Amino acid sequence: MAGAVAACVHCGFCLAACPTYKVLGEEMDSPRGRIVLMRDVLQGMLTPQDAAPYIDRCLGCLGCVTACPSGVAYGELLTAYRAHVEPARQRPWMARATRWLVRQTLPYPARFRLAAQLGRLAMPFKQLLPGSLSAMLGLLPADLPPPGPRLPAVQPAIGPRRARVALLTGCVQQVLAPEINRATLRLLAAQGVEVIVPRGQGCCGALGMHTGDLAGARALAERNLSAFPQDVDAIISNAAGCGSAMKEYPLLFRGTPLEAEGCAFARKVKDISEFLDDLGPARPFQPLPQPLTAAYHDACHLGHAQGIWGAPRRLLSAIPNLKLVEIPEGDLCCGSAGSYNIEHPDIADQLGQRKARHILATGAQAVVTGNIGCLVQIRAHLRRAGQPLPVMHTVELIARALPA
Ligand code: SF4
Ligand code: SF4
Repeated sequence: MAGAVAACVHCGFCLAACPTYKVLGEEMDSPRGRIVLMRDVLQGMLTPQDAAPYIDRCLGCLGCVTACPSGVAYGELLTAYRAHVEPARQRPWMARATRWLVRQTLPYPARFRLAAQLGRLAMPFKQLLPGSLSAMLGLLPADLPPPGPRLPAVQPAIGPRRARVALLTGCVQQVLAPEINRATLRLLAAQGVEVIVPRGQGCCGALGMHTGDLAGARALAERNLSAFPQDVDAIISNAAGCGSAMKEYPLLFRGTPLEAEGCAFARKVKDISEFLDDLGPARPFQPLPQPLTAAYHDACHLGHAQGIWGAPRRLLSAIPNLKLVEIPEGDLCCGSAGSYNIEHPDIADQLGQRKARHILATGAQAVVTGNIGCLVQIRAHLRRAGQPLPVMHTVELIARALPA
């Protein structure tokens, strides 16, 4: 942690890239301000409780990392700091209850499905509920999609096999948008890729990593280390947040007996767009039945965290009849950020509205993105703006361009 703190030269280049600084306009709600606060806590000049409101409001979007000319590893600093101070943190009972609820439901598809179904029943009383619970309900789709048939343990390649991969199926995504995994399988098979869907897999651990619960995150990640085969060409994630978290396993297991295993696992992890772009198409995409203008939204954990900006654009641009447009202020977080839109609904709402305004200004007919959290947040805010454009995952749009 000390290295990351010392690397900051307080130049302020990151301020304009920080969503909370843009919305709140406070130095302490900027990356530079937060680094100073973390330093002061680590040096004993402040208590974790003094710094907590500002550090808690950080989305972990890593916009500051892309903007920083000095290479400050803000993401690593934030994860390590949150884990370090968590035991000393005091929270009001409602915040503790919300965090407990989030940790006990989001990473477990069956529990989350049940919670979402109960949430639908509570919808008429939404205004009577506390802010975070009401925010949780506001993100649910009008109808929960049926889970559909279980994914096969092995999806064979169509035609000559070009690669063999294992797929992380995700947690929330399985419940809110099960079609994304099915489109991923169709797309990979059509590109000559055999896909294994490991049965024992579970949550990637992202939620725990970003909320200071390292023990919980390690337990979940350990399960994946055992469940995933290593004799594959890649471990594929189709959710930017999960892919980014799995690429951080070396950090998560640093100094533990599983460090080498975590590093080997992380080396195999690829986002679906990154993998397909590297592989190259087996055959050209078919034109979409109708011309479509779509706005591409960069998920922070794909762009800022994994450095993947070009791959999804290249793949989508290869679809005839599809015109991609850029969203103004496109590198600014939409306010989803894991469970942030549940824990800080006011700021998340402001960012969601801002993103929806920018998307609508492009005149696009649809939005495409590579992360379920962004998809849910953007869909909810376009709906609230009275312009419910279709919001889909990158693979769903590419799958429409596969030969019949
Ligand atoms: S841009 Fe980097 S070095 Fe400059 S203030 Fe921000 S974090 Fe510090
Ligand atoms: S991670 Fe995002 S919200 Fe947090 S300081 Fe960096 S830019 Fe600001």
